Amino acid sequence: MKKNDLLEVKNLKTSVFNDQRQVCVVDDVSFSIYENSVLGLVGESGCGKTMTALSLTKLVGSAARFEISGAVNFNGKDLLSAPAKDLLRVRGRQITYIFQEPSTCLNPVLTVREQMEEVLRLHRKDISRSGYDKFLVEGLEKVGMNFAAQKLKTYPHQLSGGEKQRIMIAMATLSRPKLLIADEPTTALDVTIQAQILVLLHSLKRELGIAMLFISHDLDVIGEIADYIAVMYAGKIVEISPAQKLLLTPKHPYTKGLIDCLPQNCKDNIRRRKVIAGEVPRGGIYPAGCRFHPRCPDCMDKCRTRPPPVFRSKDAEEEVSCWLYSN
Ligand code: SF4
Repeated sequence: MKKNDLLEVKNLKTSVFNDQRQVCVVDDVSFSIYENSVLGLVGESGCGKTMTALSLTKLVGSAARFEISGAVNFNGKDLLSAPAKDLLRVRGRQITYIFQEPSTCLNPVLTVREQMEEVLRLHRKDISRSGYDKFLVEGLEKVGMNFAAQKLKTYPHQLSGGEKQRIMIAMATLSRPKLLIADEPTTALDVTIQAQILVLLHSLKRELGIAMLFISHDLDVIGEIADYIAVMYAGKIVEISPAQKLLLTPKHPYTKGLIDCLPQNCKDNIRRRKVIAGEVPRGGIYPAGCRFHPRCPDCMDKCRTRPPPVFRSKDAEEEVSCWLYSN
């Protein structure tokens, strides 16, 4: 583990057991998240981004249907081998999550105050009950909520999508986590609200020093917030690089394809937006060799049979898994 690594994931593998079949949805994934930095994880739907995020704290469901292996070092402790009670102390306190659809995470029959108080009861024993009101109002104000005191009395159905996401972010930061995992937090929101939530997450990172794993299928959104970007395809990470380098000089043909598909790169004719030909392999049925080879414009013979290893730059800042970079 390097000095400023907060989270180091090594060879993470998650398999789902489905009708007697074993499907590997996260396959040998490794990455680091540094203190006070944002790693963006990008890829098409179904490529394993969410399963990666959930696997980090074993939040994937009943252990009988999933198998997770590898190592997830957080603050010097391996979360995958930690006892359940230790993991509970980390999850929700030191590592918190926000998801795409806040409505499904908020309890419809409890007020905002009741739901936020629950977080304080579980994770902030240092705050006395008499201090809850002030703390909750400040928590909501920090996430840019207008009329914070009144909003505490409301139920989720009385709030807009953007307000619900702000509440989720407030709840996810009440425990002063070291790492926030944001899984498509802006996808369900209008474009203007999306921009506000991104600005908010930026400021939380700056002011509270929270590191983030920010997941999105949208490279434009990731480019707004990430310090580093990892590109995922069919259960594997195919490229990791500092964000600006990856956006300006992508290496993997899939990353290049994602960048070519951005609207600003197809300005000449909006009705002929570029697409990456072919489809993402589904259900863990992957092609032999490089999993991207059926869609790759640069495919070579060996790509069809031999999975590419990871090639690292000399400074170890960039990694790409593609035969084009073998010497
Ligand atoms: Fe394309 Fe081959 Fe690189 Fe895969 S390994 S991305 S098929 S060039």
